[in-house]
Amino acid sequence: MIRDGGPVSVERYMALCNEHYYATRDPLGVAGDFTTAPEISQMFGEIVGAALADCWLRAGAPPDAVYAELGPGRGTLAADVLRVMAKARLRPAVHFVETSPVLRAEQAKRVPGAKWHDSLDDLPDAPMLLVANEFFDALPVRQWVGDKERRVAVEEAGLVFTVEGAIREDSPARETAMKAIAARLARHGGVALIIDYGHARSGEGDTLQAVHGHAFADLLASPGEQDLTAHVDFEALGRAAEGVAVTPVVSQGEWLGRLGIDARTRALNAAHADREDEIAAERQRLCDPAQMGELFKVMAVHSHNWPSPAGWP
Ligand code: SAH
Repeated sequence: MIRDGGPVSVERYMALCNEHYYATRDPLGVAGDFTTAPEISQMFGEIVGAALADCWLRAGAPPDAVYAELGPGRGTLAADVLRVMAKARLRPAVHFVETSPVLRAEQAKRVPGAKWHDSLDDLPDAPMLLVANEFFDALPVRQWVGDKERRVAVEEAGLVFTVEGAIREDSPARETAMKAIAARLARHGGVALIIDYGHARSGEGDTLQAVHGHAFADLLASPGEQDLTAHVDFEALGRAAEGVAVTPVVSQGEWLGRLGIDARTRALNAAHADREDEIAAERQRLCDPAQMGELFKVMAVHSHNWPSPAGWP
């Protein structure tokens, strides 16, 4: 395409690569390219589910509330969330926004009865309990060097970037998604948890990365065959969330700690004494600042007529 039509923006390159990448494989887990929090431990989804169920109860338990997830991966997170919600007598209709047919099939195995949508715009008009874990990082970013947009071109030796230098990133795709979430929450009520790796404050820098087989790879090698992500700029997402309340950004480790991951670890240990080391290692991976605890962040947005979710100072 680049050979025929000329260089494409980093944004378009990332969008096209990821579209092919996700459409053609299940990238998660040891045999894949990367592992996400819900694939590390059931405790992650259980705490997400408890946070949402608690918020729903305090909002007066609206019976028509739905569970919505963006980019649900294998459906592991949703299965853990829904199991905990059921304990609070919350059995919501489940709506997944997912474009990959391979991952839709995985999700159907773990969450029978879910409904799928290609876009956020097709979600039902109802109060919403929404989660996006490692969804925004996969949406394309633009890269700028000064006022020049960085593009990908073809040379004799292969793909190259058109400009080098101090890079700034932004992401109209992410802002559009956040605006759509906020508009739905403002209209129909509800809460959304956005969990991803990234930074709380907007800043300069090139954060685009390629991951293949659990290792960093060359961004321009094997287009569409490796996972392309970039840090999520939570400040920019917060700005895009109009007409709703936005919480501060907290680290995943702090958030899970406040919501009782230590108590949950003890309860799991008591029930599975033979797995104590494994459970401790999983908790460590999710919460330790040197692992996912600090790099990953959590931000919530909620309609003004819903309470703030727990987990923030
Ligand atoms: N949330 C899951 C998976 C994260 S991987 C987990 O935590 O394990 C990213 C997910 O987003 C995949 O399910 C992928 O297919 C989906 N995805 C990526 N780009 C998308 C897009 N533009 N629209 C809808 N889903 C998308």
